[in-house]
Amino acid sequence: MYLHGTSKINGQGHLEIGGVDATKLVAEYGTPLYVFDETLVRERCREFVDAFRASGLKFQVAYASKAFCVMAMCRIVEEEGMSLDVVSDGELYTALQAGFPAERIHFHGNNKTIDEIEMAIDAKIGCFVVDNFIELQMLNAIAGEKRQKVKILLRITPGVEAHTHEYISTGQTDSKFGFDLGNGSAFRAVEEASKLSHLELLGIHSHIGSQIFEVEGFRMAAEKMASFAVQVRQEIGVTFKVINLGGGFGIRYVNEDTPLPVSVYVKAITDAIKDNFGRNEYPLPEIWVEPGRSIVGDAGTTLYTVGTSKDIPGVRKYVSVDGGMTDNPRPALYEAVYEAMLANRASEEPTEVVSIAGKCCESGDMLIWDLNLPKVNSGDVLAVSCTGAYNYAMASNYNRIRRPGVVFVSEGQSDLVVKRETFDNIVGNDLIPARMKQVSKTV
Ligand SMILES: *Cc1c(COP(=O)(O)O)cnc(C)c1O
Repeated sequence: MYLHGTSKINGQGHLEIGGVDATKLVAEYGTPLYVFDETLVRERCREFVDAFRASGLKFQVAYASKAFCVMAMCRIVEEEGMSLDVVSDGELYTALQAGFPAERIHFHGNNKTIDEIEMAIDAKIGCFVVDNFIELQMLNAIAGEKRQKVKILLRITPGVEAHTHEYISTGQTDSKFGFDLGNGSAFRAVEEASKLSHLELLGIHSHIGSQIFEVEGFRMAAEKMASFAVQVRQEIGVTFKVINLGGGFGIRYVNEDTPLPVSVYVKAITDAIKDNFGRNEYPLPEIWVEPGRSIVGDAGTTLYTVGTSKDIPGVRKYVSVDGGMTDNPRPALYEAVYEAMLANRASEEPTEVVSIAGKCCESGDMLIWDLNLPKVNSGDVLAVSCTGAYNYAMASNYNRIRRPGVVFVSEGQSDLVVKRETFDNIVGNDLIPARMKQVSKTV
């Protein structure tokens, strides 16, 4: 397993993250447990901010909170001077509860409800990223009722396909998101938006995909956005102040993954903006990006306790852990691949190949196929790396399994930032209708 950030193997042969022995974390908090290397999260934030600062352009780095949205994470994003993307009232509520400055919040999504729009306008968030014509009219009307002028970007589908997994790609014409550039709806959206008196059109947005390993897609998107901006300026005299190129910066999940350093992605983007806008004597816009996975992905590790195993001679050995698709649905959803090690025997050589199964009643509930490990015993601690993004965020209570807790570690200290769910959380919203026979609890 690749050791990210502050992760290392300590003198006892245990995995250590943020200066804290993983076996101590297990003893204190139980398993499954999400562990975040806070130092690495902050380092990733700073890589983005520093690279943009070096470009000399005006910028905003907005953390796409859908990757991992809890209050302590919002605090980190705030402290690192970044902005925050939300896509639902729940994410907005989380950010506001954490005291995140509303003016640095951007609201995304292809189907914002009236309630969500009202909540966000009342909170005075910084910007809406408008996705379609119905939202454009609805937002203008609600802003009008509230006598507010609301800042917006228009989400454009630029027709750039980033090399990525089909299920998680956006940006092609056949997408549920955004105004299509190729068929003229993006242009019509700009015309319409600039006439709506309760909206202030700041610029345009695109997001071309996820887990992107080269800069070409971003260059192409920047070029398309720039030539669209130039066309709009010439034809209807509207000048964009902001170009948002979305997220999608790749991370290393497994050894074969080859992400570029953050500074390389950022330089490609800022150079492309300078070139394309400069060449057309267009006032240089602010450049915004929205990294999610690349901020938190490789900083997360999930710790599990090994339970049972099943050896099918000549076929495969299944080793089961005390979590699974409930805390990490990505292998089942996207065939996502992960690496892992035994955290309590981290310096031992691998001697067997096993496949890691979850505990859910679902054959597809597998976490890792064909993993090299030392001979695994019941009670060992399995550490799966790179689980910081879209794991806790996508966790469920399938099989009524309680969602794990989340711990931040840094410089030898661990802090619980999300408590493990309780049985009360599991049944807390359940109601038994009065017409059913009333019986007393058996636990
Ligand atoms: C998902 C998403 C992001 C973040 O994507 P990552 O791959 O996590 O960096 C950014 N912007 C938009 C609009 C998104 O939908």
